[in-house]
Amino acid sequence: MLRAKLEFVLDFLATLLFPKRCIRCRKSGEYICDNCFATISFLQFQVCGICQKGSIDGMTHPKCRTAYGIDGIISSIAYKGIVKKLLYQFKYKPYLSDLKTILGKLFYEGLIQQEAFEKFVSKENVVITAVPLHKSRERSRGYNQSELLAKELSISLKIPYHKLLIREKQTKPQFELKKEERKKNILGAFSLNPKLKTQNLKNIILVDDITTTGATLRECAKILKQSGVSKVLGVTLAHEG
Ligand SMILES: [Zn+2]
Ligand SMILES: [Zn+2]
Repeated sequence: MLRAKLEFVLDFLATLLFPKRCIRCRKSGEYICDNCFATISFLQFQVCGICQKGSIDGMTHPKCRTAYGIDGIISSIAYKGIVKKLLYQFKYKPYLSDLKTILGKLFYEGLIQQEAFEKFVSKENVVITAVPLHKSRERSRGYNQSELLAKELSISLKIPYHKLLIREKQTKPQFELKKEERKKNILGAFSLNPKLKTQNLKNIILVDDITTTGATLRECAKILKQSGVSKVLGVTLAHEG
């Protein structure tokens, strides 16, 4: 109750200090106005999460599949232009965490257009989870942007959200590294949330905000599959590539 009141007050103060303006055309009222929102187009082409070559539906090519490999990666939009700007604000300006509603909407709309995604969510025992942040980074940022997106998706899809993974290592941001270094950087970064019973987990939707080479999603999928999960589908709001 107190927390709800406090959030309300903070929200109110944020509106006074940082009035909402469209980040593209500066029109006041919203972080992105309807006109600018309409300029964002959804991704038409997906890539294989292993070899990065085209895959019509985002599913891992049969020849790229391995026992603990990710089953597919589907992204909603391209990481460029206004999307880049929106995601930057979302990640680094805590008072803008309410961008989650609009980004969540974009995310959801992009995903449900994908047949392979529709097929995955209609399976039984589906759970949504997010790529975790290290707890020190989450503390300094105040939230995990991927978790916020995962929770928005959980509401829209009426699929439960669970925190399945913990980030053990404070890793360097992946975007600062070359492709070969990314895999090494992320290796051993995650473990299973010890508070969780995983015996009933079958199909996992793994959420991240952005993907480039898929290294982070692949590493998370490996941990989940080694603990007995059958299928892991990575989904990201944006794809850089
Ligand atoms: Zn605008
Ligand atoms: Zn492939």
